[in-house]
Amino acid sequence: LAVKLETLRDLPAETTCGCRITMLGNIEFPSEVQQCDERGADGIGLYRTEFLYLGRDDDPPEEAHFAAYSEVAREMHGKPVVMRTLDLGADKMRTLPDPEDERNPFLGLRSIRLALKNRDMFRVQLRAILRASAHGQIKLMFPLVSTMLELRQAKMVLADAMEDLEEAGIPFDRNIPVGMMVEVPSAVIMMDRFAEESDFFSIGTNDLIQYCLAVDRSNKDVASLYTAADPAVIRLIDMAVQTAKRFDRPISMCGQMCGNPLYTMLLLGIGLRTLSVTPSAIPEVKRVCRSVSIEQCERVAEQVRALETARDVKTYLKEELSRVF
Ligand code: PEP
Ligand code: MG
Repeated sequence: LAVKLETLRDLPAETTCGCRITMLGNIEFPSEVQQCDERGADGIGLYRTEFLYLGRDDDPPEEAHFAAYSEVAREMHGKPVVMRTLDLGADKMRTLPDPEDERNPFLGLRSIRLALKNRDMFRVQLRAILRASAHGQIKLMFPLVSTMLELRQAKMVLADAMEDLEEAGIPFDRNIPVGMMVEVPSAVIMMDRFAEESDFFSIGTNDLIQYCLAVDRSNKDVASLYTAADPAVIRLIDMAVQTAKRFDRPISMCGQMCGNPLYTMLLLGIGLRTLSVTPSAIPEVKRVCRSVSIEQCERVAEQVRALETARDVKTYLKEELSRVF
């Protein structure tokens, strides 16, 4: 099987009916670009930039950001790279968390909320991403957006950074696409409005599952409830994809759900055509894409829409997948 997966590298993720699926990689470190390349990724769908902040007490300087981002941009040789702005807090702490600080860190000051409270730090990162956009095809993405005001505020900080660079004559891509993650149910509920102000969307199921089902993603005592197979989660994803399509906005998925081949048919059937997965999962997901037709996937999605429990969804999807290979 390993050899067979290897040969998949240079083959497109194309369904039997000729529909081309875009397979992107998720990375945390610039060194992982190579793994994406080795597995034939069409680009990077999620560059988690937190590593720059972790394990240090001070804020990384703009040049440290720029060195990392421009390296990734250059090494991708014109393929798209979605850079996500800092997603610190909750599961991604800079130093050991003080339990007194926040009772519910996942509902607290994390991610874009933290960035908007630390605008100087945020601006430094945005400047570096903008500067890197002169060296490749960069898209910028805000994490954990839960209200329209947050998106507007983040875009205002970005506009400020753009103006500063322009003033200083520093090159950057003026038309850099600016998108947001869909990982809070409120973002799905308000998606028709977000579609007017966001250039693209990426569904983050790791967080969407926990906020949809009220299940801490890192708590093993409730881990059995935490599953992408839950019909409520699938409905949210379905809603997000249909709304984005209605408003002609590109939408992809970058949560772990789409790196699991069990869900590939369902996700294609719902209408997703761009999947961003951990590099090691690219060959297997690609293999499923190359073995199915969209019509077949749409039938799978239709069957799943009628199911009521995560267990039924998993059983059904396992059965369908076993029929493919
Ligand atoms: C997600 O929430 O699905 C996601 C991709 O972001 P992270 O896992 O970094 O929170
Ligand atoms: Mg997330």
